[in-house]
Amino acid sequence: MKTIQNAINGALVTSKSQRQAAVFNPATGEQSASLPLSTTTEIDAAVASAKAAHPAWANTPPMKRARIMFKFKALLDQHADELARAISLEHGKVHDDALGEVARGIDCVDYACGIPQLLKGEFSRNVGPSIDTYSDRQALGVVAGITPFNFPAMVPMWMYPAAIACGNSFILKPSERDPSAPMLAWNLFMEAGLPEGVFNIVHGDKEAVDHILDHPDIQAVSFVGSTPIAEYVYQRGTKAGKRVQALGGAKNHMVIMPDADLDQAADALMGAGYGSAGERCMAISVAVPVGDKTADALVAKLKPRVEALKIGPATDKDAEMGPVVTRMHRDKILGYIDKGVEEGAQLVVDGRGFSLQGYEEGYYVGGTLFDNVTKDMTIYKDEIFGPVLSVVRAKDYGEAVTLINEHEYGNGTAIFTRDGDAAREFANNIEVGMVGVNVPIPVPVAYHSFGGWKRSLFGDHAIYGPEGVHFYTRLKTITTRWPAGIKGGAEFSFPSAK
Ligand code: NAD
Repeated sequence: MKTIQNAINGALVTSKSQRQAAVFNPATGEQSASLPLSTTTEIDAAVASAKAAHPAWANTPPMKRARIMFKFKALLDQHADELARAISLEHGKVHDDALGEVARGIDCVDYACGIPQLLKGEFSRNVGPSIDTYSDRQALGVVAGITPFNFPAMVPMWMYPAAIACGNSFILKPSERDPSAPMLAWNLFMEAGLPEGVFNIVHGDKEAVDHILDHPDIQAVSFVGSTPIAEYVYQRGTKAGKRVQALGGAKNHMVIMPDADLDQAADALMGAGYGSAGERCMAISVAVPVGDKTADALVAKLKPRVEALKIGPATDKDAEMGPVVTRMHRDKILGYIDKGVEEGAQLVVDGRGFSLQGYEEGYYVGGTLFDNVTKDMTIYKDEIFGPVLSVVRAKDYGEAVTLINEHEYGNGTAIFTRDGDAAREFANNIEVGMVGVNVPIPVPVAYHSFGGWKRSLFGDHAIYGPEGVHFYTRLKTITTRWPAGIKGGAEFSFPSAK
């Protein structure tokens, strides 16, 4: 059985922790690795190595730092398939989906390759008589990232490439469920020539997270995960004086206007609702057709599509959706489906009881579709994070907008329509951080920034892109005046002889 190691000061280190967690292959239910829940002493060692590495790294010319990023990017391209396989083995998502995740992570490395340009400051000449002012963005020091299971390669890459390119050193605490992909990426970064101690990985659970949040030598923490933990991380980290960005959960709605192309909308809902088994923070989990006629037609188009979903392990090239991440998570999703029925929602397609021959121990849930869901139901209020799509019928556009604005989450949303005016009004006024117009999953590209509103993000910086560079640097503004110097005239005697 594979034992996952920590990566501290440029070396792979076997943890001495007495506490271990099991890593499973969700497709088969078999344990694939054992993961250490690192001790606070091990975290201290990682922080000490990051702290020692920081001054030289921060002083390395940005162009040289960028050259290492370019090599890292080339190595990631070469090893994309291997990374995708590592993701699928522990997460369960199908191979093409895992490759897509790797590609979106590489985009963030690509962006970080432009760091000399991104760190350029501003300059004003003659802000006063012979006085000039310039501003500069400087690295913070040691920064940390705590990441969720659902994008084990990409979400860490929302953080460490930008942080490291800016001149920080980094401690990553990945999800306990799928640690192998970030370890592989760490190896490639070292191969690219990253100095020892600049990037460290320690595995662990709440104990590790708490120690990171309280550690006096860590200046900033990026967190991505569920909302209760994001809120906790934000409060504890800021109380300890750190800069914190904490991205939380979601309940993303897609409004389908009566004029929308319903086949296009139904296809978009299939990918956005069931892709990656619904385990995406930008998954659409609520469809909001406007008017009963639209709703009836949409549900009629969705039902056969959901019933025909091809579910299987990542090794099955035809599978469109894999298992969910753990047995416990599967049971939680099944519990939500029971609850939906109990609370009176109409179960159009029932994913309970799905079983795959030869993979009976895998954590599969069949595609599930609910109609006539109302806003007081638990399946509407909670983030289910599984292949369960709820249809909430709105009588008009205004009701659809109110529904979305009143939800506690505000990560992503979309509108499907042919009407430019409705789309523009929606984009302007909806209280959600990322909006798609005829685009179901509007994840911003790496040179924009990603972030929800309301209880989907705690802190005032979105992640990656320009906001990421701002989060990982602090502004310094320098005002200079030079008294008249030697240019006043040549001097031929020793100054002391004057
Ligand atoms: P999670 O909150 O359970 O775990 C995230 C991280 O927090 C992990 O590293 C975990 O070890 C740590 N953690 C868990 N419990 C903790 C505790 N009590 N104290 C301190 N640390 C703790 O999330 P998950 O199940 O791994 O991921 C799924 C969630 O992440 C979903 O809610 C999803 O919406 C969210 N997510 C959000 C975004 C976004 O950008 N907003 C992106 C991806 C995932």
